[in-house]
Amino acid sequence: MAEIGIGLIGTGFMGQAHALAFGAVAPIFEPPVRPRLELVADLDPAAAERTRQRHGFARATADWRTLVEDPRVGLVSVTSPNALHKEMALAAIAAGKHVYCEKPLALTAADASQLADAAEAAGVCTLVGYNYLRSPAIAYARRLVERGELGRPTCFRAIFDEDYMADPDIPHSWRVTRAQAGSGALGDMASHVVSLARFLVGGISAVAGQLGTAIRERPMPATGSGREERAQKVAVDRSHMAPVENEDLAQALLRFSCGAAGYLGSSRIAWGRKNGLDLELYGTGGALRFTQERFNELQLFRPSDHLDDNGFRTVLTGPAHPPFGRFTPAVGHGLGFNDLKVIEVAHLLAAIAGETPAFPDFREGAAIEAVCEAIERSHEQQGWVAVAPA
Ligand code: NAD
Repeated sequence: MAEIGIGLIGTGFMGQAHALAFGAVAPIFEPPVRPRLELVADLDPAAAERTRQRHGFARATADWRTLVEDPRVGLVSVTSPNALHKEMALAAIAAGKHVYCEKPLALTAADASQLADAAEAAGVCTLVGYNYLRSPAIAYARRLVERGELGRPTCFRAIFDEDYMADPDIPHSWRVTRAQAGSGALGDMASHVVSLARFLVGGISAVAGQLGTAIRERPMPATGSGREERAQKVAVDRSHMAPVENEDLAQALLRFSCGAAGYLGSSRIAWGRKNGLDLELYGTGGALRFTQERFNELQLFRPSDHLDDNGFRTVLTGPAHPPFGRFTPAVGHGLGFNDLKVIEVAHLLAAIAGETPAFPDFREGAAIEAVCEAIERSHEQQGWVAVAPA
């Protein structure tokens, strides 16, 4: 069985999710290439060492460049803050490695296109971590659309709301700085909606966007970097406030190339919403609705289903909705968030083995960035803006 050495950069929320997925993928998917946990890097050497021990990586380092150049590493996972993606991914590509990069791919559409160009020239496989494309219910929705079972798409609407920054006492961190994160709710959350919109409906030709920052400054963490803010409330120093440089709220009207209309909205300060990614897609022959907080279900309406009883039908996912059956043979028993990363990694390993094209690759990541950037420009210009090609 072929093996590939994994180099993981970053050991935070996504670093742990990537490590878990690399550890779980072989018994669940029997991939054509098996991951070998080779090297983990984090700026914080203690965090790198903890992750090494926790997941069984062979070695740990505080220097990501050592990792990228290591001859035993064939695939580099980039799970660092957004601003570092470009430099790390470009170095990995230059060293001839395949790259699995968290979203958003880069801070600007031009940088994302540059990454896609470099990867294509080097002939390496790339994948961007738009994991919400991976749920069996969304794969089923895509098949329904492809088979024309909803007719011609007429309207797509989606929101992605969370409350991870709703409390004004959530401390300042890299996520709210332009230099390290770029945009806020737009790149962090609305980009996932764009990935789903393009996956289910197709290209977006123009947007009319609106951004807003409701909480304009946040206290500095009393200790540490504040990166723990998702998991627990960290002590803050209210005598030391720092400005929030990117948006809490992002929304846009969308015009799809196929003629469908659309809307997206995202908030990172929406109290009560935890993984509130809700979408609805209407076509001339039916409709579907989906919410990530109940992602093992799809709501489906086809007029022929409902001679007398009106309303959407709940489809519980199961082995009929691949790759659900890889995890359990039992319908309705449900997958979890980390399983989406296992599916994502299985897809990447199949692509590295040449079995399937990787999707969403860096070119698709750049196309998503182009939509997000058009939303920002449209907000500045107060009008509709055409989306540039990636
Ligand atoms: P985090 O703050 O929890 O973790 C970031 C990690 O990167 C930390 O361990 C930090 O020490 C490390 N790091 C920072 N600078 C480094 C350097 N120079 N060298 C090595 N390591 C370095 O952040 P997170 O929530 O895991 O987010 C990381 C990325 O994942 C972001 O791009 C974010 O947008 C993305 N993300 C994706 C999803 C998803 O659903 N796909 C969810 C959350 C975050």
